[in-house]
Amino acid sequence: MSPRADDVRRYLRQTQELFGDELYLNLQPQSPLLDGGFDTDLAVFEQEICTCQKCPLGQTRNKFVFGVGDPNASLLLVGEAPGAEEDRLGEPFVGRAGKLLDKILAAIDRNRHKDVYICNVMKCRPPNNRDPLRAEVDQCEPYLLHQIHLIKPKLIVALGRVAGQTLLNVDKSLKSLRNIFHDYHGTPLMVTYHPAALLRNQDLKRPTWEDFKTIKDFLEQSN
Ligand code: SF4
Repeated sequence: MSPRADDVRRYLRQTQELFGDELYLNLQPQSPLLDGGFDTDLAVFEQEICTCQKCPLGQTRNKFVFGVGDPNASLLLVGEAPGAEEDRLGEPFVGRAGKLLDKILAAIDRNRHKDVYICNVMKCRPPNNRDPLRAEVDQCEPYLLHQIHLIKPKLIVALGRVAGQTLLNVDKSLKSLRNIFHDYHGTPLMVTYHPAALLRNQDLKRPTWEDFKTIKDFLEQSN
């Protein structure tokens, strides 16, 4: 039984103990930006925020990196932040790691424009590829939440330890975050290895492939 199912059972049991057999559902929108005045079209939303200066990374970026892919994708891949190439080109997951990600997606019959959307938590590159600071994440994460609200993916996959830790706001190892369906503001979230880590360590290819098989199965079952 998955932890998600456990959580739902526990929630329903507690609700029943408190309120009896009547079930109260919160039907309010979950994104804090739903009423934030941003557009409901992804491309227009990008134009609205592409000159953002809410945190210091706006001063040091070359290009704002919004995301790429199918605006109605069922699978949303989220990295931590743009690297040097992404900052130069304005697109997430380019370069060697991006090419490897494209191969992984091809193995599950997708590509970055076919039922997949790719973006980062942070839309601007932290200098020298340092991890984003919590204060910077707090400024930028609402943009991701609004992207998720517009795309409505069935599954979010955090690529790499920092992306997983940042989205889940925990300080756990990637190993302990894998193989679990977490919840990210109402959408299931998995954590797997960043393709750049696979380039450094071939041993990570097998567990990553297992994760993507699980991802494929999950998406097929939720169709
Ligand atoms: S990182 Fe995010 S919050 Fe900071 S300037 Fe860029 S878009 Fe704005």
